[in-house]
Amino acid sequence: MGGKSSTPLIVKGKRLDGRKPEELRPIKIEAGVLNRADGSCYVEWGKNKVIAAVYGPRELHPKHLQDNTQAVLRCRYNMAPFSVDDRKRPGPDRRSVEISKVIREALERVVFLNYFPTSAIDVFMEVLQADAGTRCAALTAASVALADAGVPMRDLVAGCAAGKVDGTVVLDLMQEEDNYGEGDLPLGYIPSKDEIVLLQMDGDFTKDEFKTALNYAIKGAKKIYALQKEALKRKYTTNKETAKWI
Ligand code: UDP
Repeated sequence: MGGKSSTPLIVKGKRLDGRKPEELRPIKIEAGVLNRADGSCYVEWGKNKVIAAVYGPRELHPKHLQDNTQAVLRCRYNMAPFSVDDRKRPGPDRRSVEISKVIREALERVVFLNYFPTSAIDVFMEVLQADAGTRCAALTAASVALADAGVPMRDLVAGCAAGKVDGTVVLDLMQEEDNYGEGDLPLGYIPSKDEIVLLQMDGDFTKDEFKTALNYAIKGAKKIYALQKEALKRKYTTNKETAKWI
């Protein structure tokens, strides 16, 4: 964000990939993709590829980390070294620690942690390929993976970002727009409760632009939410073994 593109990012109302301002990238969500995890999800969101795996609830060790009143939710967002143009140095950095934290706080709002005192629920999110909007894709995947693991939740959380490029508010920034645009507004949202559980902002928005961007991101999140539910239904109606439980 911040750099200036030598070419315009919006020409005759169309973005570099042909999208209109209020259009999402193509999105595919698949639940239950990993055999060894209790729950999992794979999300392709434009050129982003993200996988989430959930383990637990299971007893938390070492014991001094346990909470006697509720489960401890642990989230790790990680980018593969090959997921970005310049090789990403393996291991946690400030950005991944921040993203893990905001995703954990969003998910803590929906998981019934108090059902599982002394336990841990671990959520791993691995970005295999990144093209902007990975925290929203990771949150979306994590939420489906938790549901796939059968973790009791108030609802799913859907992630979606809006932003500003060439002075225009747009939905769902891709990499070039993130690099050369003027603003990014990632959102975590629970459509059924009209509740915002993650909201960050990078860049500059006027008050009106902020309102429009928030409105776009909420509308986008509602579409993502529908895809999340479809992915879960697809898994649990095609898998006869588990279908008997629903
Ligand atoms: N990015 C990168 N190298 C990094 C971190 C980020 O190339 O070390 C790219 C990546 O494609 C990412 C994008 O920059 O999706 C935007 O990053 P940001 O921090 O805004 O988070 P995101 O939009 O992915 O949630």
